[in-house]
Amino acid sequence: MNNFYTSNRQPLPDTAFSFLPLGSVKPTGWLREQLRIQADSLTGNLPKFWESLSPDSGWLGGGGESWERGPYYLDGLVPLACLLDDEILIAEARKWMDWMLSSQDESGHFGPKTLVDWWPLGVALKVLTQYHESTGDKRVIPLMERFFAYMKHELPHNRMYKHMWAMVRWADIVLSIIWLYNRNGDPWLLELADEVMRQGYNWTWHFDDFAHTRKQADLYPMRTHVVNNAMAIKTPAVAYELTGWDEHRRGALQAIEMLDKYHGTAVGVFTGDEHVAGKDPSQGTELCAVVEYMFSLENLVQILGDPAFGDRLEKIAYNALPGTFSADMWAHQYDQQANQVLCTIDKRQWTNNGDDANIFGLEPNFGCCTANMHQGWPKFATNLWMATPGDGLAAVAYGPCRVKANVRGDKLVIVNVETEYPFDEFIKITLHMDSPAAFPLVLRIPGWARGASSRVNGANVPVEPGSLATIEREWNDGDVVELTFPMVVEVERRYNDSVTIKRGPLVYSLKIGERWEKVRGEEPHADYAVSPTTPWNYGLIIDPENPQVEVIRKTVGDVIYGPDFAPIEIKVKGRRVLEWGMECSSAGQVPQSPVKSDEPVEELTLIPYGCAKLRITEFPLLEG
Ligand SMILES: [Zn+2]
Repeated sequence: MNNFYTSNRQPLPDTAFSFLPLGSVKPTGWLREQLRIQADSLTGNLPKFWESLSPDSGWLGGGGESWERGPYYLDGLVPLACLLDDEILIAEARKWMDWMLSSQDESGHFGPKTLVDWWPLGVALKVLTQYHESTGDKRVIPLMERFFAYMKHELPHNRMYKHMWAMVRWADIVLSIIWLYNRNGDPWLLELADEVMRQGYNWTWHFDDFAHTRKQADLYPMRTHVVNNAMAIKTPAVAYELTGWDEHRRGALQAIEMLDKYHGTAVGVFTGDEHVAGKDPSQGTELCAVVEYMFSLENLVQILGDPAFGDRLEKIAYNALPGTFSADMWAHQYDQQANQVLCTIDKRQWTNNGDDANIFGLEPNFGCCTANMHQGWPKFATNLWMATPGDGLAAVAYGPCRVKANVRGDKLVIVNVETEYPFDEFIKITLHMDSPAAFPLVLRIPGWARGASSRVNGANVPVEPGSLATIEREWNDGDVVELTFPMVVEVERRYNDSVTIKRGPLVYSLKIGERWEKVRGEEPHADYAVSPTTPWNYGLIIDPENPQVEVIRKTVGDVIYGPDFAPIEIKVKGRRVLEWGMECSSAGQVPQSPVKSDEPVEELTLIPYGCAKLRITEFPLLEG
């Protein structure tokens, strides 16, 4: 339990950490620049030209889109506006929030009058909790109290199963019920949460006896839907908060293990285009699933504290997330592929997504991602640090930021994290305070960081990879903690015994020449096809047990996630594998390794996955 930041009230079980309120952690350095890029592109401009967020939106009182898109957008806009202290974004968010907060009727219902589906209301509740944390708006808690009373009254007849998305996404509603219960202590809220869970789909059983081990046809649309699965990863742990049961506590790890085993990709997500689609690296992963997996992991770290969730969170945030946007973030994909060699409007091997699902644009395939993508970066930045039991602070993921929080003895501490991580191995943490303060500082040591070291004011403090290191002492103003996480090049064996190159939290892909061509729409939010200008069908010459490669460190610029801005390059040797061609407008099945090739040896350049919009990530291994 933490004396300054909301913790679970009895009878809910203790969580590993408490969330810091939105605004306590602010991005700095390259991460702030990245959020600025996001603000200056689609997030800051969408309502000006995208019909779903126009003044006609049902979430502004109009007769237009009245389902999930308004709340989805706010779920990212509200934290982004707060983290950047951007007056224009804050005013935009306030416009929507003022409407939402004044929309409640006598019954307790809020939002568009016609809306009876619990699902979009669940997203709106998540928005309200963030808005309250960042502004302290006094209208939020009374609105939530009246709404949950309404929900308790309505659930016996307006049941969750009547709304297919709500039934499988119930945990997001429960998170907001728990948020309120921890603030007002009303016991009937827990009865409501139990009822929502009872009426919702049992994802713990689903993953415990996992039946969807192959690429799916459209047989069980809700259960095999990629976004539902990404959201469901947290669901057993949310259930654990209500039950305290061990099967629920273990359920999230089981979910991740099953999805990795049968559908996992090299960058820590799983395929689904739009249903789980097996391990072929030419299958797609929807952007909504990427940001929802991140949100699941942020909740899992907070509830359960396993440092492996932090490892996975960084892997997705630093690879899969940027890899599916153009460098300027004006364009995004619906589906990304680990082996992505052509982004055009063509029939592909998707289970049921449209022909435009992997082009970069405003609204490829369907507009859910256009609305939902905004939460990825800002929530990640917000949740880099959390509060610990015993009134300390924990780094659960790393990136440049500044934390302002209260610690033991009601002392205000400012924590400055200076780093170019994940492009650099060094992290410098400087503490500032008015008077000495004794409190635990908890540091996640990544599982891959063999030989990791930490120094406090120059003195070595031993740490173990894959653990949470707790340094409990009296801290003084100006104290410095230096972390070094050695990033060693590793080879992971994947589909058909292919090889993927990893180094620290980053996954590396073949740099392929890219030709971008506008296919429709208006600048700057047009749709683009991307075609290769250089060959892609290479196998690698590398010893998987002892990879010898050259790592070239370059500067980290204001723009990072494009092929020409890559802060790190890895040079490897390879040969063309001529029988490996296109199938269904994608890279064909990766040939079973090892493969033979008599083509000339070439030096190949690999760059971080997030920088490469065309890429090969799973390579055939050439015969030694
Ligand atoms: Zn989507």
